[in-house]
Amino acid sequence: SCIPDTANLCSNLSLATTAVQTHSASSDNHFSLKKLTLDGHFSFENIHYAAKDFGNTYHFHPSAVLYPKSISDISSTIKHIFNIGTASQLTVAARGHGHSLQGQAQAHQGVVINMPSLQKPVMKVHTGELPYVDVSGGELWINILHETLKHGLAPKSWTDYLHLTVGGTLSNAGISGQAFLHGPQINNVYQLEVVTGKGDVLTCSEQQNADLFHGVLGGLGQFGIITRARISLEPAPKMVRWIRVLYSEFSIFTKDQEHLISSESSFDYIEGFVIINRTGLLNNWRSSFNPRDPLQASKFNSDGKVLYCLEMAKHFNPDEAGIMDKKTESLLSKLSFIPSTLFQSDVSYVDFLDRVHVSEIKLREKGLWEVPHPWLNLLIPKSKISDFAQQVFGEILKDNSNGPVLIYPVNKSKWNRKTSFVTPDEDIFYLVAFLSSALPSSRGTDGLEHINNQNQRILDVSTRANLGIKQYLPHYSTQKEWQAHFGPQWKLFVQRKYAYDPLAILAPGQRIFQKAI
Ligand code: FAD
Repeated sequence: SCIPDTANLCSNLSLATTAVQTHSASSDNHFSLKKLTLDGHFSFENIHYAAKDFGNTYHFHPSAVLYPKSISDISSTIKHIFNIGTASQLTVAARGHGHSLQGQAQAHQGVVINMPSLQKPVMKVHTGELPYVDVSGGELWINILHETLKHGLAPKSWTDYLHLTVGGTLSNAGISGQAFLHGPQINNVYQLEVVTGKGDVLTCSEQQNADLFHGVLGGLGQFGIITRARISLEPAPKMVRWIRVLYSEFSIFTKDQEHLISSESSFDYIEGFVIINRTGLLNNWRSSFNPRDPLQASKFNSDGKVLYCLEMAKHFNPDEAGIMDKKTESLLSKLSFIPSTLFQSDVSYVDFLDRVHVSEIKLREKGLWEVPHPWLNLLIPKSKISDFAQQVFGEILKDNSNGPVLIYPVNKSKWNRKTSFVTPDEDIFYLVAFLSSALPSSRGTDGLEHINNQNQRILDVSTRANLGIKQYLPHYSTQKEWQAHFGPQWKLFVQRKYAYDPLAILAPGQRIFQKAI
């Protein structure tokens, strides 16, 4: 079922429908894979973990897991499956750290490649005028941080959580509070090495195999497996001043956020979150932040209110503390937050970047990390953000006790428009992330069904009001929805699929294309 204008490209590609492949694994597959000569190995048992991810709701069991020791292990495996062609149902999913939400790194009855096993190339930092680090596609960002800091350097653009792999975040975008300044992680890569869906190993960059380079960045794993990435670096600060302030007026909050992301000189990190009806909010903050005015802060009451927190950070080195004080004071003086709600804390750069890991440890101790995560991430054009807020915060979403709701704007001018990633059609757009956790057995407001319904209502009002939103970490099950998601870029996406993965072997868990058999 190909769309008309790309029909000639689709002789071997068919587009996913709501159904997933249901063929059973054949022992022929196992037999043929076992015959491959590899530096690493296949495993056919104890591979249940590969049918699990952070979302914890989709479970597609693979028939084998490849633990690659070399790039040629990945290339030989894909070449082998490509050569069998449509006679086999085998597909291949690269699995980074398995932090997808809806089975995107899974392969039903297929081969999952455990990317962290690929320890090559060994991480290597290049200093100089344009410093960079070469890393394996299965490397965790936290390890990259520690290694580059040994040279006084660090990547420029991050995700809020660093226990994710390079290949996993570059297949999406990698968005955090630095994106307004540096663009997402996909904008901060000089070069990639990729194994295509035909098993070819290609180096690509803006200058070399540029179409593949742009395709793979934000390409949802559809065009190749990233085996190596060259990531741009900058001098790393030692410390960070981390600041939080509150607003009760949405329009003032967003005006200040937009002012900060558009100013010549600003903070190094800008995010924000929504707080709905939280009791004792500022008391909780006190465990890690200091109020500027303790007395006034203790009188502030968040109960029953919808509040908006602007979160900012400024980098500094200890010998520059005085200058940094002046700079932050000057930036803060132009903002209109509630004065009694200014909280701040000076922390090391590593502690700041690895902040979510602290919550992970706490949640793991309580058995609350490996629960279902019905997350919804949306990109919303600036002109529609107040319509969205009005309809959702305090209306559809009556409180946010199921998890944080992030909201912050980014500049599209910092986005490389040639990549596969699609954004709303305006110069500034907001990331709004509903990061809910569900209690598996609950039928109440903290249960999976309730949260899924709430997410659907949010999507429905956005569609009805024609807000021009795009999903981030998109999840769709029909051809029509994927086409609508990519809009005018759909044709190029299909062309690239045909060029680099014509049998639709790669990343079947995204459910965009289905291997024809
Ligand atoms: P996986 O889940 O293993 O894979 C994701 C997709 O990429 C799959 O389709 C997979 O097949 C493909 N893939 C994996 N490795 C490769 C490779 N080497 N080459 C090609 N394709 C590959 N995202 C943000 O942008 N900003 C955030 O701040 C942020 N915070 C997060 C916090 C938490 C706690 C979690 C769980 C996720 C967060 N994410 C964030 C989302 C995260 O970026 C994605 O879920 C990402 O896919 C996870 O990386 P992973 O290595 O676990 O990838």
